[in-house]
Amino acid sequence: MPTIVQKFGGTSVADSAKILAAARKAIRAQKDGNRVVMVVSAMGKNTDLLIGLAREITEEPPAREMDMLLSTGEQVSVALMAMAVDSLGHEAISLTGAQIGIVTDSTHTKARIRSISTERMQKALDEGKIVIAAGFQGVDEAKNITTLGRGGSDTTAVALAAVLAAGACEIHTDVDGVYTTDPRVVPEARRVGRISYDEMLELASAGAGVMHSRSIEFAKKFSVPIHVRSSFSDNPGTMITAEPESHDQPVCGAAMVKNEARVTVLNVPDRPGAAMTVFSRIAAKHVAMDMIVQNIAEDGIADISFTVPRDDLPTTLGAVEEAVRQLGAGGYSYDEDESKISVVGLGMATQPGVAQRMFRALAAKGINILLITTSEIKISVLVAREHAQEALRTVHEAFALDREPPAALVAAEPAAEAPKAEAAVDMAARLEGMEDLIIGGVSLDQSQARVTVVGVPDTPGLAAEIFEQIAADGIVVDMIVQSVGREGHANLSFTIPQENLDKSLHLAAELSKRLGCQTPTSCPEVAKLSVSGIGMRSHTGVARRMFQSLADAGINVDMISTSEVRVNVVVDGAQGPRALAVLQKELEELIV
Ligand code: ASP
Ligand code: MG
Repeated sequence: MPTIVQKFGGTSVADSAKILAAARKAIRAQKDGNRVVMVVSAMGKNTDLLIGLAREITEEPPAREMDMLLSTGEQVSVALMAMAVDSLGHEAISLTGAQIGIVTDSTHTKARIRSISTERMQKALDEGKIVIAAGFQGVDEAKNITTLGRGGSDTTAVALAAVLAAGACEIHTDVDGVYTTDPRVVPEARRVGRISYDEMLELASAGAGVMHSRSIEFAKKFSVPIHVRSSFSDNPGTMITAEPESHDQPVCGAAMVKNEARVTVLNVPDRPGAAMTVFSRIAAKHVAMDMIVQNIAEDGIADISFTVPRDDLPTTLGAVEEAVRQLGAGGYSYDEDESKISVVGLGMATQPGVAQRMFRALAAKGINILLITTSEIKISVLVAREHAQEALRTVHEAFALDREPPAALVAAEPAAEAPKAEAAVDMAARLEGMEDLIIGGVSLDQSQARVTVVGVPDTPGLAAEIFEQIAADGIVVDMIVQSVGREGHANLSFTIPQENLDKSLHLAAELSKRLGCQTPTSCPEVAKLSVSGIGMRSHTGVARRMFQSLADAGINVDMISTSEVRVNVVVDGAQGPRALAVLQKELEELIV
């Protein structure tokens, strides 16, 4: 008999009527011939209430006691849920994380799962019971209660689905699926039938708040299909799987991070390790940098720009001041009223002209682009916050995201792609280090060249113009980095296949002349090094270790781009093989 995991979030268990409705859904799934495990969150806003209570006592509650407190929210829900199932004439058993045997590390309030025992759950399921598991919690080796971080019930659900080799992990929530963008901002947003793990991860980091990112990383690692659906209706919802909705469309969704602040460190000496000084000072203050743009230097000096959440700006500026002093850099500038707009799609890796379409649409509305970063499947731009909502609507329209793409795969029956029971034979191995960071490997691409357009007037439409010309020639641009305008001028670097260098440089030179820019620079052979993996965002420090080890080896980094599943750096072509060896050695113990 197949096993199914059904997770119900806080809003889906907010009162007794909703708890009974959820219980009925589980009973229905059992009647349909499934073994059913429910994972439930704390009722409504209970976790927030508990946090508020703690804050009334002290500003700095001990983390261990915080977990003791927060875990009670889920304990209330599982007990009530078991009573609800019982009252409807079916058998159920509620279990805390500790009772199941969800063992985590001891990082209170953001613990990671180490292992899960399945015996107790299997036994109860064999007896025909519905198992009701408390989400978000576990226990460390010393039997201290731990929690997995806000929103952690999603991670519990996917983890249980993985170890039980469940055919599906249903996430019942207050929205009826994943949308092409936030429907509250863009009413034309469309529910997608399906989306790939990688796209969902990138969208989550770009600001789409549907699921806990860690739970998606987990699902990807263990090939658990996730079915996001409404707890209040029987709408088909959205499947999150390895496959995208359509292989033909370049973009599957758009997202916005509204409150970003940008900092630019000016005139940084262009030598190995300079960027590291800035990054490590900021990391030491536990601020997470988002967009990072380091552009190729002019005359031995470079500017480094990055964004941080607006609330972290004061802390960040403290760190930046220290770094500027240490480096003898030329000071810094910042702006706290900016927003990040991103488009994501597996298809853009192979189709030309995607960036240009986005830039052109923004230019047509007179929206200026302050920073650009790209990854294989994501393009992000920074714009003034006053334009953010319009920018999001504009790119949504530019990629016709309100319309179903041709050859769309609909939300298939989850059972159709259930992992085979045999795949679970290696259970012991699965249970080891469930949430460890996994690096798939380091790769070296020596096929590209770089062009930098220097001193571009910082006005709307220029990025569009440049990439329009390039796309018109059918050239697929890989990485794009645009730094912030300084004294009204920005630099824009991009990489292209080496055989397209002459043509691209020619186009760039013509354009530069027309715009009154300086002569573009180029590098005929660059080396792009990519580290891909799962968990790179939640395990901070991979990017930092990459930059540090390259700096220690005296290798200068020309361009950087980071994403949810990958970190890319571009170095001089001649340094490629050595940089590869350095990174392989540095990350050796993480590579699977
Ligand atoms: N109750 C926890 C929270 O609100 C866990 C969850 O809902 O997933 O963060
Ligand atoms: Mg919650």
